[in-house]
Amino acid sequence: MRAWETSVVERPGAIRGGENSPSRFDIMGEGIKLKDDHPPMPGFPKSVPYVLGSVTNIRKSVRDLDRNPTNGKKTITASDLDELRAYAKTVGVDEIGFSDVLQEWVFQETAVLFNKAIVLVMEMDKARMQLAPNKDTAVMVHETYDLLGRASNKIADWLRERGYAAHAGHPLNGMALYPPMAQAAGLGYRGIHGLLITPRFGPRVRLAAVFTEIENLPMYDGHEHEWILDFCQICHRCIRDCPPKAIYETPIEHENGLVTTVDNTKCFPYFINNHGCSVCIKVCPFNQQGYHKIKSSFLNKISDHPEI
Ligand code: SF4
Ligand code: SF4
Repeated sequence: MRAWETSVVERPGAIRGGENSPSRFDIMGEGIKLKDDHPPMPGFPKSVPYVLGSVTNIRKSVRDLDRNPTNGKKTITASDLDELRAYAKTVGVDEIGFSDVLQEWVFQETAVLFNKAIVLVMEMDKARMQLAPNKDTAVMVHETYDLLGRASNKIADWLRERGYAAHAGHPLNGMALYPPMAQAAGLGYRGIHGLLITPRFGPRVRLAAVFTEIENLPMYDGHEHEWILDFCQICHRCIRDCPPKAIYETPIEHENGLVTTVDNTKCFPYFINNHGCSVCIKVCPFNQQGYHKIKSSFLNKISDHPEI
């Protein structure tokens, strides 16, 4: 863990990852350890300015915690909430939602400062995703990380200026798992590839969050995207097309009880040697066709063939 992250873990009241928390996969560190002849990062060297931008904004997100108000406001007015949604759009965020933060979503040995999350979704460029695995795709992914990281810091600043405490969570090397948070916020549902599938962009998104202590955020309590799980069971496209066969039909249960369908030990060597891969995003039908079209044809099929 980096020194600047330790300062978050040590803050009073922080939500620290526990024994049931996932361990964070250090993409850069693990990449350096691999012996294969791979570039130092996906998309190198064009991705370098974006990676440097991300590092700057990750450090800013921690440094700025000292600028939080000591007694931040715990309730948000309806007009501030409307303005927050509008402001998020002006800084490039495509969707926002709200969720609680569960300890089991905070990575081991890291921490987030507050127990509510404003979850942020940003679309990735479709044309460059279609090229995956490709250097231009990798550069585009880092570009999106950088843009979304800047946006999360801007939103945290916006909240502080209005008297609310905030902790910006960067999309790259974040301190918590964003997909389950985004799912809880009603922004989509996790597919077999472990990624959030959103109605507007399918899995072609990056996620971030701004953690806050605002208690009256409008939480989601619906189930409208759950049908995606059933669709995945008849699709399996990502399982078939994953080049190193790293996505499993039967989930893997890890020692800490965490259940995943992606085997990092198979995904990562391919990922680091093939421009950050992203094939599972590209081939997912939700990246190729509209959510509503897939939903209506799937539900029609189910009603005609309930045995599916
Ligand atoms: S990123 Fe590539 S290797 Fe990893 S799970 Fe997706 S398709 Fe498979
Ligand atoms: S490719 Fe198919 S099985 Fe995989 S996540 Fe997308 S919809 Fe689900």
